[in-house]
This record gives sequence, C-alpha cells and structure tokens, in this order.
Amino acid sequence: MITPASTQNTSLTERYNQLLQRLTQACEGAARADTVTLLAVSKGHPASAIAALAAQGQRAFGENYLQPALEKMQQLATEQPQLTLEWHYIGGLQSNKTKAVAEHFDWVQSVDRLKIAQRLSEQRPAHLAPLQVLIQVNIDAEAQKSGIAAEETLALARAILGLPNLRLRGLMGLPRAQQDETGTRRSFDHLAALFQQVQKIAPEADTLSMGMSDDLEWAVQAGSTMVRIGTALFGPRTQQPGETASPV
Ligand SMILES: *Cc1c(COP(=O)(O)O)cnc(C)c1O
Repeated sequence: MITPASTQNTSLTERYNQLLQRLTQACEGAARADTVTLLAVSKGHPASAIAALAAQGQRAFGENYLQPALEKMQQLATEQPQLTLEWHYIGGLQSNKTKAVAEHFDWVQSVDRLKIAQRLSEQRPAHLAPLQVLIQVNIDAEAQKSGIAAEETLALARAILGLPNLRLRGLMGLPRAQQDETGTRRSFDHLAALFQQVQKIAPEADTLSMGMSDDLEWAVQAGSTMVRIGTALFGPRTQQPGETASPV
C-alpha cells in the first residue's frame, strides 16, 4: 500500500493531487475502467480547507456532525463565484436531526433504519431534488457500531424504494477496525456481494461507498465506487468543540 506522504509540510493541494494519483493507480491495479468517486471527508476541518479543495475541482464533501456542517455551509454560501458543492451526511442519525439533514444535504450515507428513512422522505423540501441515500450496513456485526445487520438490508432497501422523496443509490460500510489485510478484504467482499443483491431490486443503485485513507486500494479491488477520505487529504483532524471523538 502507498503510505500518504508526511502531511506536515505538504500543502492541501499537493495532498489532493497525490490522492487523485493514488486513486487512479488503485483503479489501474484493479483493472477498473470505470471511475471511483472521491468523497472528501471534511469533518474537523474548516470551511477554508473545503474552499481550497473546491478550487481544485473537488465537488463532493462528507460531514459527520450536523452543527459544524451547517456552519461551514453557511460560510461557503457567500463565496464568489458560488460553489456548486455536493454535501453528503455520513454521521450517526437520530430523529431530532433528520429535518435539518433533509433540508441541507444532497446525500445521506448513514440510513440504517426505516423510521429515519421515513422521516427524511417526509421532511425533504418539495423544491429540492429527491435525497440520494445509501444504507449503512454493519458489515462485521459489531455491537457498538451504527448500521443495519447484513441480513436485514434487503428488507430495508425494499421499504426505501417505496418512499417518494428518497432515491436509493446503494450501500455504505466501514469494516471492523484493526483487522489484518485478509479480514478487511473479507469485509469489503461481503459488502460488495450484498450490494449486488440490492442492485437486483433497486434500479438506481450504482454506489458502493467503502474504503478510507488506509485501505482504499483494497476497497477499489473489491468493487467500491466511492471512497471516503479524510486524513490522507486534510491531515489530522482538529477536534470540533462540543463533539465527541467517535465518528459514528
Ligand atoms: C471520518 C470518516 C471517514 C474518513 O476517515 P479517514 O480515515 O480520515 O480517511 C470516512 N467515513 C466515515 C463514515 C467517517 O466517519
């Protein structure tokens, strides 16, 4: 695997270009002719870093925490010329957050139960395009982790297909941390197999969101269509005030 260069003295732009190169190499290594989308995970980083990457052509950004995300969106709304960014909510989702998420995000990758999906559909403003959603799967059945159980995924997918203001675009997952290569690859393969089943019933499901800074090559080999990258792009996170350290 390619280890990202020291983030200390490398500029954000350099890291971005290095990461795009790393992603291209991963696709070549996996003999993939299609493109893999880069989601820049900007949690813990300021609006200025997002604007800097947007100036390089990056469009999709992921945030885990609602309040800081809304603040950054507001700050970026005044940029001239106006930025056309695509915002992905990738954090834990409780009922009290669904309204703001439905109003401000383009995608939600962390849908893991029907009640949340129903609320997002009901609360999606009529003047906006449908909300693009991924089901988050708890691939390795970890007790503390968000995500629906693998065996319940198809039932949730069918239910989401019936909700008018959502478009089911696929699955998202994080493998168990601190696994060896074999274990991580097995987790990715498991999610990829589940994604193929979802594609049989969901005509618009084209997105398999898996792979992060340390394992994107394995994810791309397993069929990922979107990698979610924070640290390798932005460097170590600066903690958000009032937020817990746990990302999910
Ligand atoms: C933080 C986070 C990422 C990015 O992780 P890095 O290891 O910093 O690349 C990706 N996905 C989710 C769901 C996250 O919470």
